[in-house]
Amino acid sequence: MLQSKLFTKTERTFPKDEEAANARFLERAGFIYKNSAGVYSYLPLGWRVIQKLVAIIREEMDAIGGQEMFMPALHDKRYLSATGRWDVDVVFKVLDGKNPKPAFSLSWTHEELITELASKYVHSYKDLPFSAYQIQTKFRNEPRAKSGLLRGREFMMKDLYSFHRDEEDLDRFYDIVKEAYFNVFKRAGIQAVYTLAAGGDFTSSNTHEFQAICPVGEDTIYVCSKCAYAENKEISKLSGGGRCPKCEGKIKEEKAIEVGNIFPLGAKYSDAFDLRYTDEKGEKNPVVMGSYGIGVSRLMATVVEMYHDEKGIVWPESVAPFKVHLLELAGASASPAEAGRKSAKKIYEDLQKIGVEVLYDDRKASAGEKLTDADLIGLPFRLVVSPKTGDKIEVKKRNEEITKIMSFEEVIKLLGN
Ligand code: ATP
Ligand code: MG
Repeated sequence: MLQSKLFTKTERTFPKDEEAANARFLERAGFIYKNSAGVYSYLPLGWRVIQKLVAIIREEMDAIGGQEMFMPALHDKRYLSATGRWDVDVVFKVLDGKNPKPAFSLSWTHEELITELASKYVHSYKDLPFSAYQIQTKFRNEPRAKSGLLRGREFMMKDLYSFHRDEEDLDRFYDIVKEAYFNVFKRAGIQAVYTLAAGGDFTSSNTHEFQAICPVGEDTIYVCSKCAYAENKEISKLSGGGRCPKCEGKIKEEKAIEVGNIFPLGAKYSDAFDLRYTDEKGEKNPVVMGSYGIGVSRLMATVVEMYHDEKGIVWPESVAPFKVHLLELAGASASPAEAGRKSAKKIYEDLQKIGVEVLYDDRKASAGEKLTDADLIGLPFRLVVSPKTGDKIEVKKRNEEITKIMSFEEVIKLLGN
């Protein structure tokens, strides 16, 4: 993409009303726009990052047999009423204009909707197991929406739901999802700790959270430094400096960001919506369910919290909006032929031809401005073409200090896979 055509611009200073690093960098670099507290627009650069994350998540969910679908954001009151969740604190309620009382809520989660619709299709043990997921907007009226994309009042979630004949089959699938979640976080550059946690408004059982250790995290976890066994402080009897119940290793107390949460739901929702199946003996049994969430927008924020320096974001390649930032510095385009070099425009076109995603800074701006923007936006590879580089290209990785001078062929070798 040509940077001169990008409708967003970077800013010289940080936004005044944001404290969290993710919001400060993402807004200043033009990835997101704050519409109100906890409500953001994803601008072209930011949307590309979301799409990279979504692609990773979709691949991993499809690989375990998850069937993608899409459910409404507007929920009739009867859904939450059926499970006693209509009055959960964070639920946004909607007036329809005629009725003085709210008759709808905005999607804060989707267990009720999917359970009801599954009851139309599940009749026999032969219809089980299966799992379905969506990537969709959730609304929660969070009292503390001050951490940028880490805690939105409107945010993006991937939610998967699974349906089983018994607890044993749920347990089997639960472990499969666990591995898929580790893959998702690893591919996004995040090392997540599998943490025993409470069920909140979802289930009376324990659940498991995927926690990214990070000083700005709002959760506190106790994690074993030897075997990585972990518990959320909310439910834990462990303490920092104590011994791990599994391996006697030393327990550390850490701040962490909850990037995912998986829940064994049992029959709570099946009972509420009469989701039952007939087994081989002709007996009716409730379907056993699980639900599994990943905060997609929170994950993007977590990546920024983990990967930035004082100059800007340092995107891991897997989720960067573009792989390469190509900068053409003043004078470079004057006489490329004379200098025997490829013009920046030609480099841009040739890289795209071999499938490399490039943001090409073709603007009439000073070298200082372009270099500062490149650090702020944080693409993994910076290529500079200037009168000084002659017929070569200066190459620098965002996460390294050294610059190298390379021929175009060497650049292709470096980037073209
Ligand atoms: P938290 O404890 O942080 O409020 P939660 O436990 O209520 O989150 P879940 O219902 O488990 O959240 O939602 C699944 C996932 O969605 C979470 O693991 C998190 O990654 C993400 N998520 C939850 N709330 C938000 C939010 N307000 N903004 C962004 N992401 C969120
Ligand atoms: Mg949770």
